[in-house]
Amino acid sequence: MPYELGAGYKSAAQRVRVVSEAWAADNVYCPCCPADQLERCGNNRQAIDFLCGACESPFQLKSSGKTLGSRIVDGAFSAMDHAITFGSTPNLLILGYDAERWTVRSLMLVPSFAFTGSAIEKRPPLKPDARRAGWVGCNILLGNIPVDLRIAMVANWNVAPAASVRQQYAALQSLKDLALPQRGWTLDVLNVVRKIGKQEFALGDVYEYEGELKQLHPHNLHVRDKIRQQLQQLRDLGLLEFLGDGMYQVR
Ligand SMILES: [Zn+2]
Repeated sequence: MPYELGAGYKSAAQRVRVVSEAWAADNVYCPCCPADQLERCGNNRQAIDFLCGACESPFQLKSSGKTLGSRIVDGAFSAMDHAITFGSTPNLLILGYDAERWTVRSLMLVPSFAFTGSAIEKRPPLKPDARRAGWVGCNILLGNIPVDLRIAMVANWNVAPAASVRQQYAALQSLKDLALPQRGWTLDVLNVVRKIGKQEFALGDVYEYEGELKQLHPHNLHVRDKIRQQLQQLRDLGLLEFLGDGMYQVR
């Protein structure tokens, strides 16, 4: 990474931002179309750091020097909730760097349509003595996003071929057309299917996650009906095959 660009900044956060954005501008291609570069947005668009000049896909870059955990601190809960409801969340690029050597260890793409109510959690309001007392932030819950929608562009310093990243993104395009809250349910059930981790599984395997799904959708009283409906949806999307007798196969 061009760490020398950070030399003039006192704040570590600013240094990381300047260096990582410069790296991304030089190295990151658009995963949604054949464009081989992204354009920087400057400070005029909130939560959007890059835009593809060809397909206009927006991207937000988040960088961390620590190993990626299951939660990522994001901005205001209300802004994220609004963006999810109105479908204006950008694609998220999560960059993990080695803080000692300034090298890029990982780069993960989370497509914009991966963000549903299940993917974020409200954080406790800031304490009364904080500068922004009462402000409520949110966390992105990576574990609630199906592994299909966490696309590795770089993993353990290995760069994935652009063609395979674009292929993975394209394979998910049909999910983009599903409206909320339907998409939320589809992704939650897909996440359960991935967690079961078997090539062939039974309806009962999915029912074991009924409690977890109920927590994500506390107002729904018919979780089992929803599960069966979403398994059909995943079949229609080409992700599952029905084998009969309550058995399913991952495609
Ligand atoms: Zn593009």
